[in-house]
Amino acid sequence: MSPAKQTHEFKTEIKQLLDLIVNSLYSNKEIFLRELISNASDAMDKLRFEAQTKPELMGDESDLHVKLTIDKKKNTLEVADNGIGMTYDEVIENIGTIAKSGTSQFLEMVKKSNNKKTLSSELIGQFGVGFYSAFMVADKITLVTRAAGSDKATKWESTGEGNYSIEETQKDTRGTTITVYLKKSDEIGKDFTEEWTVRSTVTSHSDFVSYPIRMDVEKQEPELDKDNKPIKDKYKKVIKEETLNSMKAIWMRDKKDVKDEEYNKFYQHVSHDWNPPLKKMHWKLEGTTEYNALLYIPSKAPFDLFQHDRKHGVNLYCKRVFIMEDCKELVPEYLRYIKGVVDAPDLNLNISREILQQDKLVINIRKNLVKKIFSELKKLDQKDFETFYQEFGQVLKEGIHTDFENKDKIAELVRYKTTKSDGKWVTLDEYIKNMPPDQKDIYYLTGESVEALLNSPHLERLKDRGYEVLLMVDPVDEWVVRSLNEYNKKPLKSAEKGDLGLDEKVDEKKKEGFSGLFEVIKKKLDAYVKEVQPSTRLTNSLSCLAGGDHDMSAYMEKILKASGQPVPDNKRVLEINLEHPVVEKMRALYEKDKESPVLNDYASLLYDLAVIGEGGKVAEPAKFGKIVSDLMSNSLTT
Ligand code: ADP
Ligand code: MG
Repeated sequence: MSPAKQTHEFKTEIKQLLDLIVNSLYSNKEIFLRELISNASDAMDKLRFEAQTKPELMGDESDLHVKLTIDKKKNTLEVADNGIGMTYDEVIENIGTIAKSGTSQFLEMVKKSNNKKTLSSELIGQFGVGFYSAFMVADKITLVTRAAGSDKATKWESTGEGNYSIEETQKDTRGTTITVYLKKSDEIGKDFTEEWTVRSTVTSHSDFVSYPIRMDVEKQEPELDKDNKPIKDKYKKVIKEETLNSMKAIWMRDKKDVKDEEYNKFYQHVSHDWNPPLKKMHWKLEGTTEYNALLYIPSKAPFDLFQHDRKHGVNLYCKRVFIMEDCKELVPEYLRYIKGVVDAPDLNLNISREILQQDKLVINIRKNLVKKIFSELKKLDQKDFETFYQEFGQVLKEGIHTDFENKDKIAELVRYKTTKSDGKWVTLDEYIKNMPPDQKDIYYLTGESVEALLNSPHLERLKDRGYEVLLMVDPVDEWVVRSLNEYNKKPLKSAEKGDLGLDEKVDEKKKEGFSGLFEVIKKKLDAYVKEVQPSTRLTNSLSCLAGGDHDMSAYMEKILKASGQPVPDNKRVLEINLEHPVVEKMRALYEKDKESPVLNDYASLLYDLAVIGEGGKVAEPAKFGKIVSDLMSNSLTT
């Protein structure tokens, strides 16, 4: 059978796909090269596999590689491999008849989307449209292939416009050669007959392909005299074959075969971070869920850690072939700084990102990765952990709020400075270990800085009791304490809210004696406070503001205001220290003259002092200043 040149129609689905590829505005056109190289790599994988049982298929030609050839005159780029090749029938089947599984689904999604152009281009990237993607850059493609073990070859040719031609031909070597007749470079945006363009495309998209990708490159070499010594300023052009990719799929290798230097280089490649990583994690999971992972914890936070559109750090591979970067589905948001590669051999390659999230294998890998990352974080020594925590602690803590399943694991890792730790970090376990026997709760206070919190009047009684208080100074801590009601069965309790649970009783009779005065104060401060009460929190200061158990903290209010969000009415309780001499004097004045204007001034001072005490700003500084300076001049007797 030696068929003459025939023309065939592409199958409908493929026609539609081609139409989309040719007509969509896709900015990353260079990925076509990745697709062609990845097919070549697959073909060599297949050959290697088959040759295990039929060594004659490999024959003498066991130097499996990809060869790229650029031709400026013809404006072509050639991708040649010596893999398994295709028979005549296989060409018809693989390139023209059988659409990749998932193609119809892909087309369906494009059809449904109202913004066809951008969505389809995004999808093309996710989908990996494979061989046909070359029509993004090509006017015409020729494929010549000879299957391993056959002496006949097949030539396939198409302009991507509905049909292709196929005929028998001659080819000296095994494998497939694809010639891409490039569109004009200004149509593509890049010139793929430029050595540099090809080289950089290979390094950025195919660097870890496990076969050499070679290209003839022009080099300058000094000319030599008759003694073989270089002649000064005399150079000649020579053509040298060079391997463009590093091929280091080091994540697939055995740990003991990978040098530290290679690990670090690979880290640079995936992270573009020049600082050495804090920790590498390289392992392989076998069983029902299989994968290789090589992940890194950076030692420095990237500049865009808190930017909305930043990328996640984990790239997904399937059997050494790059599938996607920035794979958000593999690690949760609060681990977004983890960099590296996950290689899952059983991955279903035809699923889109949306579906990836629900893919059972992906879900299992994600669970497993998170588990492993936690166990590695736990193993870090104190110094390294603190480096990590300094850089990424805020983001890690997001997980307490967002990852219900793992919030206790994260809580085990978090640490805080405290009223007793002298600037050092304390874990919640350490905190509990240090609790005096009569202390029931874990106390914390949120605010802007450790220094300000250390002097907060809210802590007076707790300090008096010898109880330690966690000083929480990251905005995210407000979300932490909302989600973490207790740790190790010990409730978390805010030092500025509700009853501190200290069994401190206010003498009811004494309280009664102040009720009239408190009413006057309340009336004066009605717009600011919801109640005026004797305090059990204070031992030295005159007054403070306290919230109810479920009220918003002062810090939270500040955060919301700073971010321009509406703040719900958040009146708090003005607590007054009945032991303070001023209060007693105010009462005496009240008994004498219930209408005294001094009482009003004092009431607003009680409030302003409470605000200042927690590091806030008084509402009317000028008025505050006047009251205080009047007081000062009145009290000075010379
Ligand atoms: P996929 O690689 O996902 O199967 P492609 O569109 O990239 O989809 O390729 C379609 C098919 O064409 C491949 O599955 C393979 O059978 C065949 N093919 C493409 N390129 C080559 C090649 N260089 N050598 C052998 N077969 C190839
Ligand atoms: Mg492919």
